[in-house]
Amino acid sequence: IDYQENLIPYTHDQLVAKVQEKLDDKRFQHCLRVEKQAIELANENQYDPEKAAIAGLLHDYAKQRSDHDFIKVINDKQMNPDLLDYGNAIWHGVVGAEFIKDELHIFDEEILNAVRRHTVGAPYMTQLDQIVYMADYIEPGRDFPGVEKAREITHASLKKGVFFQTQQTLSYLVENARPIYPGTIATYNAWQSEN
Ligand code: GDP
Ligand code: FE
Ligand code: FE
Ligand code: FE
Repeated sequence: IDYQENLIPYTHDQLVAKVQEKLDDKRFQHCLRVEKQAIELANENQYDPEKAAIAGLLHDYAKQRSDHDFIKVINDKQMNPDLLDYGNAIWHGVVGAEFIKDELHIFDEEILNAVRRHTVGAPYMTQLDQIVYMADYIEPGRDFPGVEKAREITHASLKKGVFFQTQQTLSYLVENARPIYPGTIATYNAWQSEN
């Protein structure tokens, strides 16, 4: 891929190297697959594939930071203190976008929001948010019960995919007695129309 627009201050290869530097190989390969999956979903939905590629590649940029690092950012930037009740699963997206701004000097709010929303979604999601949320869920390395159904639904309707993922995630979390981030429930309720 050659970036055509000036969304970020790097070439594609430079951005890939920045991501690789911060992740182990398993997580890095996942990011490359999400990049590709996001391009495919963008093309299927008449969305800018370059922007989808960048957001897909970056979505888990902060995944392997320590709890200490996330807590420091939440406190220093006076983010919602309720975030402190959760952990890496929630922080790496919602708070992870701050590392992308501060370390990579990427300030495109559409890209940053897609990173922020990639785990828990949001009541209102842009097309880019939806693409990254779904690309993360259905990339070819994913293997969980229902992933084939998720792929079928998503290729037929991106929005129906968003509801399906949110419902499946919520069920899984309840089944396993995990804490539910309120944003996850807000997403589930707001996307009922795609039920
Ligand atoms: P990944 O970073 O590519 O592994 O995928 P995600 O960022 O989409 O999700 C990371 C983890 O967050 C998954 O294990 C989800 O099940 C989990 N997760 C999503 N929503 C919630 C929530 O509301 N509460 C908790 N505790 N975990 C959640
Ligand atoms: Fe993630
Ligand atoms: Fe996700
Ligand atoms: Fe991911």
